[in-house]
Amino acid sequence: MAKQLQSIRGIHDGLPGEVANWQFIERQFEQVFRQYAFAEVRLPVLEPTELFVRSIGEETDIVSKEMYAFEDQGGDHLCLRPEGTAGAVRAYLQAGLTRSGGQRWYYKGPMFRRERPQKGRLRQFQQIGAEWFGASGPAEDIDMLAMAWQLIQSIQLQHVHMEINSLGCPDCRPAYRDTLQAYLTDKQQHLCETCHQRMHSNPMRVLDCKVQSCQQQLTDAPEMVAHLCEPCTSHFDTLKTGLAALAIPFVVNARIVRGLDYYNRTAFEIITDQLGAQGTVLAGGRYDGLVSELGGPATPAIGFAAGLERLGLLLEASAVSVSSAGVDVAVAALGDATLSYSLQVAQQLRQHGLTVLHCGGGNAKRQFKVADRESARFVAVLGEDEMQAQSLTLKNLASGEQITCDITEAIQHIK
Ligand code: ATP
Ligand code: MG
Repeated sequence: MAKQLQSIRGIHDGLPGEVANWQFIERQFEQVFRQYAFAEVRLPVLEPTELFVRSIGEETDIVSKEMYAFEDQGGDHLCLRPEGTAGAVRAYLQAGLTRSGGQRWYYKGPMFRRERPQKGRLRQFQQIGAEWFGASGPAEDIDMLAMAWQLIQSIQLQHVHMEINSLGCPDCRPAYRDTLQAYLTDKQQHLCETCHQRMHSNPMRVLDCKVQSCQQQLTDAPEMVAHLCEPCTSHFDTLKTGLAALAIPFVVNARIVRGLDYYNRTAFEIITDQLGAQGTVLAGGRYDGLVSELGGPATPAIGFAAGLERLGLLLEASAVSVSSAGVDVAVAALGDATLSYSLQVAQQLRQHGLTVLHCGGGNAKRQFKVADRESARFVAVLGEDEMQAQSLTLKNLASGEQITCDITEAIQHIK
């Protein structure tokens, strides 16, 4: 036998059961996006590598070691997108939308990062995200966080909560950064190797280190929220008041950072305690510096992204019914002469919106087995008598009840 090929490590196939969960999430999310007047965009999976080097930055894990980047046959440096925001900003600028007022976009699709695969951490994963360009806040921040919360509510997830933080702005962050750096310098010998580097390149990222011994050193680390300038304080206060007014439960977590300089003020995550270290199901923040970083005019913006696989895992663990469409009617054709008639009946039933499986004709017993296996609600039995009378015999598989009637009556009965 020929050798079977396997998918790439950390890259999974979405099979029907899992996809039914994803589709449920997508349907629920789409309704919420519509309610908040966000429109869908479909952006390329393949982008110039430089886009991510310029936006995310070379000193981050994503760009330094996780990108699937390559040179194509024409010598162009391309990469499978590791996230959606940079591409959205590129598209926004390329379409010349900077004078259009606000743009509210959402997207869904695969992202690629060469991380260490674990449950809920894949190398190809799907994100559903949203970006709002031209949103200066703080009202837009409240709306954006409320929408994110609403998305999670729409799929009835339990055991989730929201954490927020403020990352300050170019006015107040440098002084805080120095204070934090001084604090970390004192603790230097107790920090992990990566944090030694971060301490110099980007000290705020030390706050986010997943290593236990690093976290132990940070218990009384200075916090950005205590060092905000007046406008940032006021922005953050309004955000908290707004979330409280909407009864959205949140806690302030000073450890939430976004490693990148273009992020400012609002940062937030929606977290579950059920997926261990993969507990962040949705993450986002304000990035007023990114549009200009990528060559556009200064444009305030805020966005977030949710991980579809992680949401799917949570949904599976909860008792939420995703109501995947089962088979309403299995059509069994008895005798070769009835085949065309049975196909016509199946077609008519489908035209009335029913989910119909034709059992393929032939052996009657085999056809009933198919109906059983598919958990069809009804079997339509079509023999020569039924064909002559242009009727069908409809059997309810749960009750065993059976009637012979014409197709209109059958449809009423099934519905
Ligand atoms: P984490 O801290 O879990 O690594 P992150 O901060 O890298 O997450 P973002 O880049 O903000 O995550 O992406 C937003 C969301 O996308 C995450 O909250 C998560 O749900 C999902 N996500 C990120 N990386 C992966 C991955 N490798 N596999 C599956 N889902 C992912
Ligand atoms: Mg990550």
